[in-house]
Amino acid sequence: MSGDYDAIVIGAGNAGLTAAATLQQAGARTLLVERHNVPGGCATSFRRGRYEFEVALHQLSGIGAQGQAFSLRGLFEGLGVADELDFVQEHDLYRAVVPGRYDVTLPAEWGAATDALEKAFPGNRARVERFFDLVRNVAFWQVAAMRGTPAEQVDPVLFRQALRPVEDVLDEHFTDTDLKSVLSLYWTYVGQPPSRMAFQDLATVLFAYFEFKPWHVRGGSQAMSTAILGAFLRAGGEVRFHTAVEAVLTRGGRVVGVRLDDGEEAGAADVVSNASLPVTYGMLEGTDLPGAVRTDLASRRLGVSGFVLHMGLDATPAELGFTTSTSFVNVDTDHERTYASTRSLEPARGICVSSYDVAPIGFAPAGATHVSLMTLQYADVWDGVPADAYARVKYDYAQTLLDLVEHITPGIRDAIEEVDVATPLTMARYLGHPGGAIYGYDQDVTDTWQFRDTERRSHVPGLHLVGSWSSMGGFQPTLEAGARVARRLLRARAA
Ligand SMILES: Cc1cc2nc3c(=O)[nH]c(=O)nc-3n(C[C@H](O)[C@H](O)[C@H](O)COP(=O)(O)OP(=O)(O)OC[C@H]3O[C@@H](n4cnc5c(N)ncnc54)[C@H](O)[C@@H]3O)c2cc1C
Repeated sequence: MSGDYDAIVIGAGNAGLTAAATLQQAGARTLLVERHNVPGGCATSFRRGRYEFEVALHQLSGIGAQGQAFSLRGLFEGLGVADELDFVQEHDLYRAVVPGRYDVTLPAEWGAATDALEKAFPGNRARVERFFDLVRNVAFWQVAAMRGTPAEQVDPVLFRQALRPVEDVLDEHFTDTDLKSVLSLYWTYVGQPPSRMAFQDLATVLFAYFEFKPWHVRGGSQAMSTAILGAFLRAGGEVRFHTAVEAVLTRGGRVVGVRLDDGEEAGAADVVSNASLPVTYGMLEGTDLPGAVRTDLASRRLGVSGFVLHMGLDATPAELGFTTSTSFVNVDTDHERTYASTRSLEPARGICVSSYDVAPIGFAPAGATHVSLMTLQYADVWDGVPADAYARVKYDYAQTLLDLVEHITPGIRDAIEEVDVATPLTMARYLGHPGGAIYGYDQDVTDTWQFRDTERRSHVPGLHLVGSWSSMGGFQPTLEAGARVARRLLRARAA
């Protein structure tokens, strides 16, 4: 077994794929092992009737507009897959609706969004401009600091503002509750409410979408996953689908390979894991779990998952009343209470609505629309549902998401042709992650890069960690993390 491969990658999620392709293209003989039968992890799609359904991608960041290409486009170019991908720009960040209180659309441009907010909440222009200035500054200096700019050269605004709760920064800028609610809606993309979310995270998300625009991909996220896998295979990589790694083997405290679920062993001096941290460390054989890992894992909380309705609708977006690709519909402006409800089965209080045919990605037939409704939820809610009640509870809960979307598309139920429902248990089953967590651990202030260096140090020589469990969750962060960790690994081998 020894020396079968230079590296073995566990899991073909975003980070596993870019890690494997980067390693193989640099000449490292790499085996990629994925327990599912398709590449992508969250970044996949599936078929129902005449529709293909996007599993996870709502808004891709990091692509950049014409003449302003950003890091993810560069990554795809480096992997040799940019020409295979057709990105579709969303022109708005989102439409935000609380029935009876506000209905405002934020264009994906700083000035136009300021105008829209001033129109919806008159008298706040100067405050919004000051807030957006801060967003730009904190986002910029955070990237500079993460890229190694010495602390003394970093603008102190980062140290003063980055780790403050979003809620505090908003309170300092605004008095209008509705305006604060509209500006903090991206809390759902991080999975922490404004009272617990670091301002640097909101700043980064807003900056990414305003500056480099939100995108979809024709063929969905599966097109990206398939393209990266293709680049890996063309470079000579080997992949096994329908195969789980069940043990990470060590000798003398160092990684020497893996054992697959058919009992076969494969050797490699480096193993890169895209599986969750609890699963990865739980698979270690031949060595005790390092104390530093125990301490780290004990201080973390399993992150949030989601409940999703994928729908094929027999009507056009215009007929249904969709004006934007992305909408947030909430029952009220109390995001803290909505976050608290993610641990219960009370009717959904907020949904993210993705309408994939406003800027079509090619998944619905002509004249029809593919829409997903998503609300965040922790998995333990579903652990308590008896197996014989699961289908009914799922159906009843799904109705509450439909009740919310009816506020922007009255009569949508009449247009449903296909529907598929995923709960946190579905995510756990397909991804193999505890709690079906979609962003890894809870991404609160204690999980920020200032306090954790999980990605850099697995504490087990030869074991490397990539993806949402060892750095930030989401598409752009995980795609970039895989390539970054692979480059670090290659540099260490060359030294
Ligand atoms: C419904 C939904 C909506 C989302 N919306 C957005 C969004 O709009 N924007 C955004 O940026 N992010 C979004 N996300 C989050 C984003 O998709 C994820 O954070 C990201 O894709 C995770 O990538 P990853 O590299 O960590 O790997 P994952 O996607 O978590 O994949 C891990 C892979 O490892 C495999 N694996 C695990 N254990 C083993 C083993 N023992 N052996 C072999 N293989 C194994 C799994 O099968 C899986 O394929 C969403 C996610 C979901 C589910």
